[in-house]
Amino acid sequence: MEQKVIAQPLQVALDKFNALDEKISHYSSVIGLADWDSKVMAPKKGRSVFAKAIGTLRTEVFKMSVSQEMGELLTVLTSSEFEEQLDTVTKAKVREYRKYYQKSKTIPADLYQEYAILTGQANDAWEEARATNNFEFYLPFLERIIDFKRQFAEIYGYQEHPYDALLDEFEPGLTVNKLDPLFAKLRESSVNLLERIQKYGQPAPHHIFEQSYDVEKQKQFNRFFLPIIGFDMEAGRLDETVHPFAQTVNIGDVRLTTRYLAENVSSALFGTIHEAGHGIYEQNVNPAFGESVLQEGASFGIHESQSRFLENMVGRSKEFWRYFYPQLQSYFPEQLKNVSVEGFYRAVNTVKPSFIRVEADELTYNLHIMVRYEIEKALISGELEAKDLPVVWNQKMKEYLGITPSTDSEGVLQDVHWSFGGIGYFPSYSLGNLYAAQILRTIEKEIPDFYQHIENGKFDVIQEWLKDSIHQYGKLYTPNELIVRVTGEELNADYLVEYLEKKYSAVYGL
Ligand code: ZN
Repeated sequence: MEQKVIAQPLQVALDKFNALDEKISHYSSVIGLADWDSKVMAPKKGRSVFAKAIGTLRTEVFKMSVSQEMGELLTVLTSSEFEEQLDTVTKAKVREYRKYYQKSKTIPADLYQEYAILTGQANDAWEEARATNNFEFYLPFLERIIDFKRQFAEIYGYQEHPYDALLDEFEPGLTVNKLDPLFAKLRESSVNLLERIQKYGQPAPHHIFEQSYDVEKQKQFNRFFLPIIGFDMEAGRLDETVHPFAQTVNIGDVRLTTRYLAENVSSALFGTIHEAGHGIYEQNVNPAFGESVLQEGASFGIHESQSRFLENMVGRSKEFWRYFYPQLQSYFPEQLKNVSVEGFYRAVNTVKPSFIRVEADELTYNLHIMVRYEIEKALISGELEAKDLPVVWNQKMKEYLGITPSTDSEGVLQDVHWSFGGIGYFPSYSLGNLYAAQILRTIEKEIPDFYQHIENGKFDVIQEWLKDSIHQYGKLYTPNELIVRVTGEELNADYLVEYLEKKYSAVYGL
């Protein structure tokens, strides 16, 4: 171990900074637990007071993160005298807190207050508008949110495109200039592949899911496979919710949720595998980063790459089902008696354009993201106004997915994100797929019998690789640093394009 001689004032600042980091992390840990509880366990009548209590704790975390003490510590630690003496871990922590501190300080308090009130109202308006198919009702709220976001982009600052300022909140360092060519390539090839599947593809036996699958048995099967694919049940749990999610309390307590549908066994299966991808990531973070800002994943996009990798590249592979299908059949002998593993594999890889993003298949999912990305970019730059959204939305759906929503509820009103100001977030989902395919290419090189391990149910070899290459680092590296470290190059769309082409040509006999 290298031992640096550290000046006394620096050591004092470091001790204080680390103590503050740990305190913030402890608060966040309890907030995470409370959040989980409010969604999974809390009785209906207590929920609104519970939400207020969680809000109070969040405010405390916010205050600590932007406190005078934090400001002073960051000034000391980034001073020319001391910055070079910091180790990599401290530098990463400082990077994270500094970014948050600077952003929070640049928005005037009254502006932020106004925005917070607006998003609360906009969420109710959105729910009402979607339920009654009334875009006009939601429009004034949306216009104001976009107006705020345009202002925030100017305040945060950007080099080339105002949307860059919003992207950076979710995927640090990502810009429109980097993203446009990646998405353009993916969009063109996906639209083309989709057309070929619809014209020439052999239909997959998707009807096998439209039967009754006993929920208790589904629960047993999910609990059976979860530890096998690498989730440590002694460092986590699996529960039920309406909207599946993963919540980390700490590295030794990662909680997954899933949703069981009696009429569709695949919903819980792939929901659980997806959330397990998120959960395993956080269980595998280096324990030395526990109780600190670094215990989370590198970014939204990288996090999503780990869930998509496990769900799609592993969980929807033929080898995965060669191993698990006989087991699944033993749980549901009646429903699956006439379905071969090949048929099941093709059924879980069915491609069918639909209006609802969250239910989209692996191929058309990215096209949903493209629609939203292009619209958001144009809204923030001022090329598009909110009142024109329903028309533009439907045009893009037709152009990319070949279908036109019959109502705005089914179209422009379907996602909650914009109502809480979550503009800039959608690209993370497709980034996850892009990262995942690039990681797959590398892992196949480094573990040549990758798919053989899956077929043998030997997931530990794969999880060890992911842990060594990605998971252990938590938030130590920026997403770009991490992908270059792992795969030797910056993000490149070719890998996902080739993966989708190869996979669906086989599934659909193209
Ligand atoms: Zn996810």
